Order: sequence, then structure tokens, then C-alpha cells
Amino acid sequence: MVNGWTAGWNALARRTQCWILPPSCVLCGDRGQSPLLDICAPCAADLPLNPSACPRCAQPLLPGFVVPGACARCLSRPHPFDRALAPFLYDYPLDHLIHAFKYGAVLAYGRVLGTLLAHYVCARGEPQPQALLPVPLHPKRHRERGFNQAHELARPMAELLEIPIDDTLCRRRRATEDQTELNAAQRRRNVRNAFCLTRKPQYTHVALIDDVLTTGSTAGEVAKILKLQGVERVEVWAIARAASQLQKGSP
Ligand SMILES: [Zn+2]
Ligand SMILES: [Zn+2]
Repeated sequence: MVNGWTAGWNALARRTQCWILPPSCVLCGDRGQSPLLDICAPCAADLPLNPSACPRCAQPLLPGFVVPGACARCLSRPHPFDRALAPFLYDYPLDHLIHAFKYGAVLAYGRVLGTLLAHYVCARGEPQPQALLPVPLHPKRHRERGFNQAHELARPMAELLEIPIDDTLCRRRRATEDQTELNAAQRRRNVRNAFCLTRKPQYTHVALIDDVLTTGSTAGEVAKILKLQGVERVEVWAIARAASQLQKGSP
């Protein structure tokens, strides 16, 4: 968990670091600007937005299609989570940043992405969850990678939104196959019963943090066990939504 003292210390350390080593844009190398610091305003404005999305699962929809309720997928087979937010599409240059962050251990990119996500959430002005829950890696994968990308994304979010990270509540008890090459049904099977809780949750509202939301099967599996244990509202916050195909919405 990140407490208030730790968050305050992190903020001070970051201000000191900015003074000694001014931030530069991760995409063009120009000087970074407040409040995003590690990305300049023109590069931030060029990122691929996900503006026309299902309000339940953040699935990109055909441009201009108004969706007051949810997409066809959410209406026919609702996800266990209440709502997903993903401000960007998994497209250039975000896919490059995410790939380098996750597989190349460029943690500075994770800090940029987490900061962007925090600003997006903050601008919505909605009731905030009581805790940020990074989707856990299996301990073996965690050891191989050296870090959990979801936790690295959650760090700047915890600091900016002043919400604690809880990375001990949920555990991945089964090492699952890499989902990259799997279709939706295979992904669902792959993560079934892969997670467990280490204690009874004390929260009524949480946000799961993940890097990319594809079919929602992983986040859905975690949301399912949280809901079974009494968490009333489970949101999923991811930096990007990968879409296999654009959908029409349904009223
Ligand atoms: Zn730039
Ligand atoms: Zn949907």
C-alpha cells in the first residue's frame, strides 16, 4: 500500500529530480511541460484518442455512432466489471511506448502513461475509488520481468489522484499463457480461476489498473471474484483499448 507519507515523499523526490534533470518528451526529445512533464503538449495532442467508445467496456465504436447505453457485446453478455475507461487506442505511437515499457523495461514510459491516465480520470470529476488494484502478475512472470507493469502505471496515478495502491489483496495463483495470440474464447478459458483474494476486501469501490484492455477477460475474471466478496463497484482503468473490429453501438 502507498500511504500519504510515501506519496508526499515521492512528490518531493520528483520535484527535486525535475530541478536537477529537467524532463524531456519521450517521443520527440523536446523539453517536457507541466503538468505531464515527460511528454510535450504537441506530442500529447497527437496521441490516438478513443473518443467514441462504449460507456461500459470502452470498446471503440464506429465514428459518429451515438451509444447511450452500451455496445452490442455488453448488452448480450455484460462484463463482470461496472465500467472500463481507456482514453487511447492501442495504435502508434502508444503501442510503441507500451511495448518498450512492458518488454524493454523502459519504466519512464510507464510513468508517462500512468500520468496521462491519471489526468484523464481526474478531468472526468467522478467519485473516486478507495483503492487502485494493479492486475497481478504470476510470481514467476514477475521475477522474469522484474516489475509488474500495472503497478508501475498505478504509481503516478496514486500520487496524482491521492488514492492508495493495494497490491496485496489480489493474487494470480496460476501462471497463464501469454494472451497475445489467443482469441476471445481462448482468453476467457486461459484466465478462468487464475486469480484469488488473500483476504476479505474492505472496499466498496475499486479500480483495477491494467496496461491494455483487449477482450476484458482478465479484468473480468478479477472483477468477478471481487464482486463475489462484496465489492459493489469495480472499474477497469487501462491506458489503451485494443479493438479487434469496430462495433456498432446499440441504444
Ligand atoms: Zn514531444
Ligand atoms: Zn461495451
